[in-house]
Amino acid sequence: MQRRAADRLLCAYCMEPPQREPGEGMLWLLHTDPDAHQWPADIRTSTPPICRPHAELALRRCATLRRRYLAVRVREAEPIGVRGTVYDQGGPGGPDELVLFTERNRLRFVLGRDLVLELRGAVPEPDFHPQLSATATE
Ligand SMILES: [Zn+2]
Repeated sequence: MQRRAADRLLCAYCMEPPQREPGEGMLWLLHTDPDAHQWPADIRTSTPPICRPHAELALRRCATLRRRYLAVRVREAEPIGVRGTVYDQGGPGGPDELVLFTERNRLRFVLGRDLVLELRGAVPEPDFHPQLSATATE
């Protein structure tokens, strides 16, 4: 389900294409540290996009997410590879690895689990991160 949503850039919750305002990118809600990036950022993730009502709902319902989240607007999201188990040299290669679509010889040996998207030129969504805009002006 998650993979299909990421594949087709549908909201992770309602499987509808997220509405986007003209000139605005699509919304992503990530469970990551907002201070770990410089803006605009290129972010790799296997999380599908999310529509605004469901982003607000997810934050209301999930205290863990509220403590550490990043909401970004993204104009361009490109599938770049898969994350999964790499079977080369005859056996499982250990922890999950990211294999890019350009790595043709490794791609044959990956049991892909999640599609990985690269979110290009991501910027924080100010409505979800008033504190980020506030600290930027200090
Ligand atoms: Zn939705």
